Amino acid sequence: MLHNDQLSQWDRENFFHPSTHLAQHARGETATRIIRTASGCHIEDREGNKLLDAFAGLYCVNVGYGRQEIAEAIADQARELAYYHAYVGHGTEASVTLSKMILDRAPDHMSKVYFGLGGSDANETNVKLIWYYNNILGRPEKKKIISRWRGYHGSGLVTGSLTGLELFHKKFDLPLAQVIHTDAPYYFRRTDAAQSEDQFVAQCVASLEELIAREGADTIAAFIGEPVLGTGGIVPPPAGYWDAIQAVLRKHDILLVADEVVTGFGRLGTMFGSTHYGMTPDIITIAKGLTSAYAPLSGSIVSDKIWKVLEQGTDENGPIGHGWTYSAHPIGAAAGVANLKLLDDLNLISNAGSVGAYLNQTMQEALGDHPHVGEIRGEGMLCAVEFVKDRDSRTFFDANDKIGPQIAAALLAQGVIGRAMPQGDILGFAPPFCLTKAEADEVVAKTVTAVNTVFQG
Ligand code: PLP
Repeated sequence: MLHNDQLSQWDRENFFHPSTHLAQHARGETATRIIRTASGCHIEDREGNKLLDAFAGLYCVNVGYGRQEIAEAIADQARELAYYHAYVGHGTEASVTLSKMILDRAPDHMSKVYFGLGGSDANETNVKLIWYYNNILGRPEKKKIISRWRGYHGSGLVTGSLTGLELFHKKFDLPLAQVIHTDAPYYFRRTDAAQSEDQFVAQCVASLEELIAREGADTIAAFIGEPVLGTGGIVPPPAGYWDAIQAVLRKHDILLVADEVVTGFGRLGTMFGSTHYGMTPDIITIAKGLTSAYAPLSGSIVSDKIWKVLEQGTDENGPIGHGWTYSAHPIGAAAGVANLKLLDDLNLISNAGSVGAYLNQTMQEALGDHPHVGEIRGEGMLCAVEFVKDRDSRTFFDANDKIGPQIAAALLAQGVIGRAMPQGDILGFAPPFCLTKAEADEVVAKTVTAVNTVFQG
C-alpha cells in the first residue's frame, strides 16, 4: 500500500534504508511499511494489518516478539546502568554473566568471547584476530581468507568481500584482494546432473584443493562458512561435506571460522550448527539469536588454540589494539542473558527442531510435486522452496521474471511474510522458534495459494 501522508513523506525525504532500491523508494514507487507492534510470531503495521512473520525479522527474533522478560531486563539495566565500557578489564554483571552462559553452551574447546554489535562487525573482528594470530606466529604471508560463493558474512569492507553474492561486490570495489572464493556446497545447482551427492562433495573438495595449490597454503589463513548457507539460498550441506572440508583445512593448517550468526542458539534445533555437523571451528561468529534481536549484540567466540596466541601477542606487544565503544554494551548483554534463559525455560530450541521438521514435511507434502518446484529443503526451523522453469532439466527462470519476489508478494497479500532470497527464485522461511503447528499449516497453505496465483495467473 502506498501512502502520501506525513510519515511516508518524511521517510522518503530523510531515511536512507539498507538493502533498498533507493531511487524507486525516494520517488514513491515502493511501499513504506511502518511496523507498530508485534507479539509472538505476528507483527502489526500502522494500518492494523497483522502479518505472520515467517522470517522472524531477518531470521533473528528467535524467541518471538513481545517477550516481557527481555523487555524488563533491558529496562532494569537501562535504569541501573545504561552504559559503561568494557576496555581495560571493565565489565558489568550482565556482560560477565553472559560470557559464562555463552561458553557454557559453546563446544568444549572454545575459550573466550569478544562482544560486538552485529554479525558484520563480528566477522571483521575475526579477520583481524586471524591476521594478528599469524603475525604473532611469525607467518606474515599467511593471510588470505577463503569464503564460499553464496556465503553471507556481512556487508562491511572485509565482510562484504567474504560475502559471495554479486550484489554486495558490484560497484563497491569488492572483494578485497585478501579474500578468495570457492564453490558453494549447493548440490541442487550442480552442473553435472548425473553426479551423486558423494561425487559432488568430492568435487567441492577437489576445487578447494586446487584453489589452495594455486594460491599456496602458506598464503591462506582461514576458511569461513555458515554451517547451513543462509542468505545465499538456505542450503543445508550435502552429507559428509564438513568432514571432508575440515580434513583439507587441517592438512594445510588453515583455520576454520563457523559463521553461526543464523544457526547459533538453536535455529537448527540444536544449540550450535558446529556441533550439529561435527565442525570443530577455531572461531564461532554469533549475533542474531544471541539476543533474539531485542538489542544489538554479537560475539566472536575464540578457541583455546587462538586464545593462547592472543595472550602471547599481548605479552609481546601490549594491550590488544581492537575494541568498540559499544563492545559488551550492558543493555545488549542484559537482553542476551534474558534471551538465553528464555530459550531454556520455554524449551524453544526443541520446539524449533520439532515444529521446524513439521513445517518442512508439510511443505514437502503440499508442494513437492509441483511442476515449478525444483526442491524443498531445510534443517530445523529453516525451510526453502526453490522454483524452476522446468523440473526435469533443472532449468531456472530468468532473473528478470522475478518469480521469487512475485511469490513472496502473493504470500504477503495473504498476511504471511516469507523472504525472496536475493539470488535465485527461492522463497525462504525462518520463523520464530515459538511457531505452532497451526501456524506452520497456515504458512504452508498460503504458500500453496501464492504459488498457484503466480503460476496460474
Ligand atoms: N553472517 C551471517 C551468516 C548472516 O546471516 C548475517 C546477516 O544476515 C551476517 C553475518 C551479518 O550480520 P549483520 O547484518 O548483523 O551485520
